[in-house]
Formats: sequence, C-alpha cells, structure tokens
Amino acid sequence: MIAQDVLNPATSPSAGPKHSVPIRKAAVLGAGVMGSRIAAHLANAGLPVVLLDIAGEGAARSGIATQALDGLKKSKPAAFFDPALAARIAIGNFEDDMALVAGCDWVIEAVTENLAIKQSLIEKIVPHLRPDAILTTNTSGIPIAAIASHLPEHLRQRFFGAHFFNPPRYMRLVEIIAPPDADPAAIEAVSHFCDLRLGKEVVFARDTPNFIANRIGVFIMLEAVRLMQAEDLTIEEVDALTGTAIGWPRTGTFRLADLVGLDVLAHVASNFAGSHPAEMPPFFRTMLERRWLGDKTKKGFYHKQRDSEGKEIRLVLDWKTLEHQPAVRPKIPSLEMAKNSERLADRLPQLLAGDVKKDKAARFHWQLLSALWNYAADCLPEIADDAASVDRAMKAGFNWEMGPFQLWDAAGVAQTVARMKAAGEPVSANVERLLASGATGWYRYDSAECFDLASASYLPVAKAAGIARVANFRTKETLVRHNPGASLVDLCDGVACLELHSKKNAIGEDIVRLVTETLRSDGDAVRNFEAFVIGGDADNFSVGANLMQLLLSVQEGEWDEVDLAVRAFQRMTGSIKFCPRPVVVAPFGFCFGGGAEMALHAVRRQVHAELYMGLVEAGVGLLPGGGGCKEMTLRAVDSGGSDTLRHHFETIAMAKVSTSAMEARRLCLLSHADGVTMNRERLLNDAKQLAREIANSGYAPPVPRTDIPAPGENVLATLKLGVYMMRQGEFISDHDVKVANRVAYVLCGGAVTPGTPVSEQYLLDLEREGFLSLCGEKKTQERIAFTLKTGKPLRN
Ligand code: NAD
Repeated sequence: MIAQDVLNPATSPSAGPKHSVPIRKAAVLGAGVMGSRIAAHLANAGLPVVLLDIAGEGAARSGIATQALDGLKKSKPAAFFDPALAARIAIGNFEDDMALVAGCDWVIEAVTENLAIKQSLIEKIVPHLRPDAILTTNTSGIPIAAIASHLPEHLRQRFFGAHFFNPPRYMRLVEIIAPPDADPAAIEAVSHFCDLRLGKEVVFARDTPNFIANRIGVFIMLEAVRLMQAEDLTIEEVDALTGTAIGWPRTGTFRLADLVGLDVLAHVASNFAGSHPAEMPPFFRTMLERRWLGDKTKKGFYHKQRDSEGKEIRLVLDWKTLEHQPAVRPKIPSLEMAKNSERLADRLPQLLAGDVKKDKAARFHWQLLSALWNYAADCLPEIADDAASVDRAMKAGFNWEMGPFQLWDAAGVAQTVARMKAAGEPVSANVERLLASGATGWYRYDSAECFDLASASYLPVAKAAGIARVANFRTKETLVRHNPGASLVDLCDGVACLELHSKKNAIGEDIVRLVTETLRSDGDAVRNFEAFVIGGDADNFSVGANLMQLLLSVQEGEWDEVDLAVRAFQRMTGSIKFCPRPVVVAPFGFCFGGGAEMALHAVRRQVHAELYMGLVEAGVGLLPGGGGCKEMTLRAVDSGGSDTLRHHFETIAMAKVSTSAMEARRLCLLSHADGVTMNRERLLNDAKQLAREIANSGYAPPVPRTDIPAPGENVLATLKLGVYMMRQGEFISDHDVKVANRVAYVLCGGAVTPGTPVSEQYLLDLEREGFLSLCGEKKTQERIAFTLKTGKPLRN
C-alpha cells in the first residue's frame, strides 16, 4: 500500500543535483511534541525513520515512543499525509535501540529544552553515529555553541541547529544555525533536503537567543500586551488589531498564545532575560501558576464553556480582574474601514493615518508597528545577514503576509521615520543609515534587491533556483492578456501561465472566457506558446465555480443563462483537454468543484503536497457539471469497472475532500503519473518543467471519445440500492438521496444497457441536464445560499 503511494521525489522536476551527503534515512531523538511530528513529516517525505525516547520499565520499554506513534496517527491537525505512513517509523528507546541510529544519515535531537539533558544524550549517541552522519538539534533557544562544546572534534563539523516550527508538517520555516566551522556540504545537504523534500523555507540564522522568528515574534507579542495595558484595551480588541488587518494570522496575539502554550512562550521569553525590552507582565505569571496555559490545559486567554441550555459559549479573559467573561466581537471603526482595501499595502497606510490623539486603534497600531520596525532594524546584523532573511522567517514561521521590513516599505520608510522624529520617538540607527545613503526603502522590488547595511547599497536577494511565483514573471511585456479573474503570463521558454486571481479564485464568467479563448486551437496563444500551466499565487487554487453568479440567475429564473453558463464551463474544460498544446494544471490548497474539474481535464497535474481537492458540488445540492462526472466515468471505465465506479460515486456523492495530495491519489482525483511538489514555492517551476517536457516529447492531444462503454442500468441499480440503504440507516437526507441518485445516473451514462457505446458529449449532456434539474430544487438553492453566507455546507 505504502510503496504504491510513495511521494516519489522523482515526480518533482526540481529534484536538483545529487549531494555529496545523501539523506536516505533519519533518526529523531525525542518523541515529544516536536520530535514525533518531525518524524511523521520525514515519513511524509518518503524516508524511513527511527524514533527513540527514554526507556520505560518492563515490557513497555519503548512505551513513550509507542504512545507517541499512536498519538501521531490520530493527531489534529493530521501529522501524516496518510496514517498508513506510520509504518515507515521504527520506534525504540535510548537504552536498547541506539544501534538503530547507525544506519541513519541525519540524526535530529529533539529532547527536552535543557542543556544538560541534550549534552548527556548526545554523548550517548556519539559512539553509534556513522562517521559521515549529520547531527542537528531542534533547540529553540539554547546556544548551538553550548551544545557543540561537548561534542568530539570530528563531529563538530557535522553538527548544527535545524529549528523546525510547530506543527512541522504545516509551518514552513526551518532555521539553520550553523557554527562557523560546520561543514558546508553537511549544511547544504540538510537545507536542500528541507527545501525540496520537506517543503520548507530555509532561513540561515545566527546563534543568538531565540534565533530570528521567535526573537521578533515573541518581542512583538509582548509589546502588544504592554500596549494593551497602556491603552486600556481588551484581549479581543488586541486580537482584532493584530490579526488579518495587518496581514497577521486571524488568531491575533492571544489566540496564538493559547495555541502555542503560555509555558512555551514564557520559556522563549525567559531566553531574552535582561537583553530584551519587552517583558512578561505580572498577570502572565498568575496564569502560569493557575496552569491557564491555553489549548493544552483547555483554559488560557480564551476558553469554552456550556451554558445552562448546553450551548457552547466562548469566554475571554478580563486581564484586569483575571476572570473569564463571555466574548464579544469588538467594533473598531478603523478596522471596518480598512476591510474595504483588499491589499495589505493599501490598508496599512490607512490604518496608520488615524488621529493618534483621538483614535485608540490608530495609536495602538502606530506604537506597535514603529516598535516592530525599530526592533527588527536594531537586530540586524546580529540575528541574520539581511532584512530579507528576517522577512522570510516571519512569513514562514509566523504566517505573516509581509515581513517587518516589507511592512515598513508599505507604510513608507521616510515618512514613518519623519513621523517618529517629529513625535520625539527613538529611531533605529540602522534605518538612519539606510536613509543617509539616499535609499528610500528596504527593497527595490523591481530588481529583487534588498538594502545591505554593511555596504550601504542594494544587493540581490538570494533565491534558490526553481523558486518562483507568477508575480516574478508578471511585467507589462509578459502580460499577454488579462481580465479581473485571470491573466495569461509568459513564463519564458515557450510556456505561458493562465493565472487565476479572482476573489477566492472562484471561477466565474471572466475566467471561463479567458481560459477558453487562450486555449482555442486556432488562437494566437496556441500559436505563440508550446505549453500552458494553469496556476496562481493565491493561498488556494480555487473554491470552485462562482456560486453567487449561479444563485442570482437561478433566483431570477434565468434558466437559459444557467444552461449557457454550464455549456461555457464545459467548453472551457474541453479546451483544457483538447488543446493542441499540453496544459498542466498546478493546484494547491483548496481545489474544489470547478477547480477540480479544470485539474481533471489537464494532460497531467503537478500538485502541491498540501492539496485539499474534491468534487464537492453535492454539498450544495448539485453535481459536477463541468465535465467532472464525465472524467470520473472515463477513469472508471478505463481502469476496471464497477468497483472503481462505485468508489468514484462515493467520492462525488459524499463530497469527499482529500487531506493531502497522497489522499487525492487514493480518491483517483490524481493519477500516479501526476507530480507532487513538497515546496509550494517550487510548484510553478515544477509545473512549467513538466509542461515543457511533455511538449518536447512530441505532444498530440486526445480526440473526443465516442466509444465509451456506458456502465449502464445494472451498476446504476446497485448504486441506487446503496443510496436507499444509507437513507434507511438515516445517514443521509431525502435531498441527499435526490442528489446522489442523479450523480449515479450521470456516472452510469443513464439507464442504458451495460456496454452501450456513448460519447463524451453525451455524458456532458447528462451532466448538464442533471445540474439544471438540481438547480431548480428549493433545497439546493437553500444549500447554495447558506454556503455563500457561512462558508459551510447545509444538510437539509
Ligand atoms: P516535549 O516535552 O514534548 O518532548 C521532549 C521529549 O524529551 C519527551 O518525549 C521526553 O520523554 C524526552 N526527555 C525528557 N527528559 C529526557 C532525558 N533526560 N533524556 C532523554 N530524553 C528526555 O518537548 P518538545 O516541545 O517536543 O521540544 C523538544 C525540543 O524542540 C526542545 O528543544 C524545544 O525547545 C524545541 N522546540 C519546541 C517547539 C514547540 O512548540 N514545542 C517548537 C520548536 C522547537
């Protein structure tokens, strides 16, 4: 099972050069929160892993590691792409199983954050290490040099810090902290592996307290707490002010603290002791004493409780009384106004423009951000080589939309510095240096350069080959055509990208038009380019067809409009499939409904490993009407018949969504020939290379099929019986029955004699009829309206 499902790195064209220190097997020492999850992610990447922890008594000698592995299989968010991957992890203990480490190329220490414990374990491990093995530590705050001081000379060169963030599958940052005498080949091997195989953003940090991301991130969290007290704000107000409005995660400051754990935060903050301007406030200490640590103790700044009617209510801490009160969504006028600007770069100046004398929110933002900017600038070059490293670390480690220096550029460096000076506030000497050199910002975005403090000049931002977004290619010259929903961008080398960029990448009339026109066999684009990629730079590939447009037409009773829209959608997916040039679709994140249908019609898919893909139309009372049903029937017919068709039927009727690319393969939404890219930043380049390779191999498009043996009435009867049983068991509603039976009818090619030859167009017509008929159902319309309003499915 696993061997079949291996995420083969060879499917990622950017697999790159072979390294002198290949990493084929790894060991993780410590099966706690981090160690166990790092082990799981190594298994996700296809590696055999040894996971060890302290020995217990008697039969349960490896009890800690065993429990950790059991916990990993059920962990939320899921640590594995698929729980079956647990089979790649061999467990053991530090007493009996040290010999297992001998076969490992990379050994990762992830035991308790305590220098003596780390040193003593490393001493124990040394005799078992292969001479060429690489040893790294996951410490978040202990100086690497202090741990290294206990190592034998020969091992010191292959020892350094590789600091993962929690949870390691999802947090993109790995900080590499290499002592000056570390072997460059060993560092290169680990950073290359983290980038390509683990999908991480690798940032080189200096050996200073809390390295880069925690240094800046925890400073600013503590600064937000200080300002909350100074400005007499509530916890919810601060969370709103430090959330998406300024491009930080929705969790804001305190919800994030609950997730991380107040104890972990306190530990990181204690590493700053004496050298840090922001300190833990006294009420944090009381919370620590009361074990209000956050999610792990089910109570922190927030907690949930049931009221007298059993309804769950959310409580929030009043930091003055230390009592939890029912949470109320704060109303902050400047945040409401800022919602009108979609781009952070537009929003930020607005947020800062408020009158600080009258507006608490404007005062908070100004003080918080100016403290962030000065602190980040003061930390250079102590913590990192350049501002770009700090920005990359904050984006990948704290999920910020922009790093501190990019935020500063967006607010205007010269203007903000002048404002600080006018108000008699301190200004970092480093930014003074920048302005004195004649520079106006930390970056020159057009030429991808960043200001270098040492030379007082701009230097190119270092970027590994193969890392690119569509935005890196998008210029006046390369933008071939565009409309509000999509653009055609020349990626060079004969490949062009159809970039989706509507709101949530919902597929509306504009995207449908641009894709269809571009891929027309007699069009300019097909003449001028040899291959196409469909992708984008957003967080998600697509939430599916634009339901708002559909609902409006349905409510107006414009059935001809709906019919035309479905036909146009089908023409678009057909243009992807039958385009004379190969079209590779490169989905990532959410790839729902119409987005999945686009992907299914491509010659191949190059996907991000974090792919949440599904034909989810049944969730809104519809069926895939853009060729999705037809493609799933074709796949079933070509690969083996009724069992496969039943599997596809369940996928569609139950609106299943994959939790990873690996699961999307299991749902047959991807084939084994499709490529998987672990690093999101490499996806575009991998897709481009794949498209190029297919074009080079003398591509001939398929022709529409007319000889598909319809599964027909027998399979249809079986599928309907299954639906009936589900209804009898009260697993589904009457409306679910209606939708599922319609899906079954389309997938079977109708109630025809099994094996009757049918065409692709015939299946598309069935889809369209089914789609239109379901649109006419009141309960479907209710489902669509509910999902548009709440983002959730309605089971009616
Ligand atoms: P944890 O407490 O969950 O796990 C630590 C493991 O070390 C446990 O399984 C424990 O059995 C083992 N251990 C305890 N005493 C030991 C001893 N004397 N000898 C050998 N093993 C022993 O800790 P964690 O959160 O997984 O942290 C592990 C490392 O990762 C630490 O260095 C920590 O700073 C770092 N880190 C943690 C996070 C986080 O969010 N938790 C994030 C990044 C880095």
